[in-house]
Amino acid sequence: MRTAIANIGTIVTGHLDHPFADGDTIILDGERIHSVGTASASEVEACDVVIDAGRTTAIPGLIDSHVHVTFGDYTPRQQTVGFLESYLHGGVTAAISASEVHVPGRPRDAEGVKALAVAARKCFEHYRPGGMTVHAGSVILEPTLNGNDLGEIAKQGAWLAKAGFGAFGSAFEYTPLVAAARAHGMITTCHTGGSSIPGSGAITGDHLLAMKPHVSFHVNGGPTAMPDRDFERIIVEGDMALQVCTAGNLRTTLLCATLAQRHHAFDRLIVGTDTPTGSGIMPLGMLYTISHLASLAGVAPELCIAAATGSNARIYRLDAGVLAAGKAADVVLIDAPDGGTQDTALAAIRNGDIAAVGAVITAGEPRFVGRSRNTPATTRNVRVASCGIARDFSGARH
Ligand SMILES: [Zn+2]
Repeated sequence: MRTAIANIGTIVTGHLDHPFADGDTIILDGERIHSVGTASASEVEACDVVIDAGRTTAIPGLIDSHVHVTFGDYTPRQQTVGFLESYLHGGVTAAISASEVHVPGRPRDAEGVKALAVAARKCFEHYRPGGMTVHAGSVILEPTLNGNDLGEIAKQGAWLAKAGFGAFGSAFEYTPLVAAARAHGMITTCHTGGSSIPGSGAITGDHLLAMKPHVSFHVNGGPTAMPDRDFERIIVEGDMALQVCTAGNLRTTLLCATLAQRHHAFDRLIVGTDTPTGSGIMPLGMLYTISHLASLAGVAPELCIAAATGSNARIYRLDAGVLAAGKAADVVLIDAPDGGTQDTALAAIRNGDIAAVGAVITAGEPRFVGRSRNTPATTRNVRVASCGIARDFSGARH
């Protein structure tokens, strides 16, 4: 299937170094982007579906790098079905598991812990809720595991290792397992801030610098922040990614963004929601944090979008998150929300508004075109200009 997105007003690439692309057309071929920029009229007309973007703004699909998936499109924590499909209506085209820690009665023994990560990975390989890609399979590091266990499940596809929820006496004890997970090619992540499991204690700068995870999960607090002085330390003394999350401390999100810019480390700042949790289900969480960074920390909106797309993809080694030929065909059209004070999506974000989502395309297929269930309506009209296949893209549940 070929899809053309024509008449785009602005193309935001998701790449920090060159955040805009010239032109007004994107052509998708199957699950990959074929071209970004200009295309001949005949090339556009030959596509199976042509979307008239109505001069709205094209961005890469948002990648939420902190989602508490379990199995299926269901969250036990909030007992809600269909939350991932709802996130898709907030522009999220890929979710990365923050470990399947919310599975009721989750096991603690080595075999159970390993089986959970492998099963989660393999289930979501074959299941795309609403069209979203879910990268699951994050092993929860427990004292019952050793390096060989990690090698075994890495071979089975488990690719993430999470420190912070295990039954360790001190967070420093995670260090050998984090190193072992790294040696087996896994991406390692660590809870940051006040304890999320009663009695487990806070994880702060000293622990992170000793452990050396790839990603400081919710560096701004999940939801309780670490001491202010530790932010500059981990930015200057470490090289881990700094994940700011919607369901955390907003003041320290802004502190971290300001310090990351000051130390030329904004490429390490990535965005996630840390939901569903006790804070709830937040289908627009990614859009909120993008707006918070732009309107309160003074970061250019296109760079905030990059932190939520291309930077996440780079840290997690995903072939997505950037609008460029050959990348995953995940594209979102956004605009100034109807009835607001601003004229474009980027101006609205700078103003602190939530961008209106007008279309979401994943794996080259439009999932809805026209109106998101969750955002305000777009100012401009996004529509299907021609469709040569028997499909309805109006956004009805499927
Ligand atoms: Zn979390």
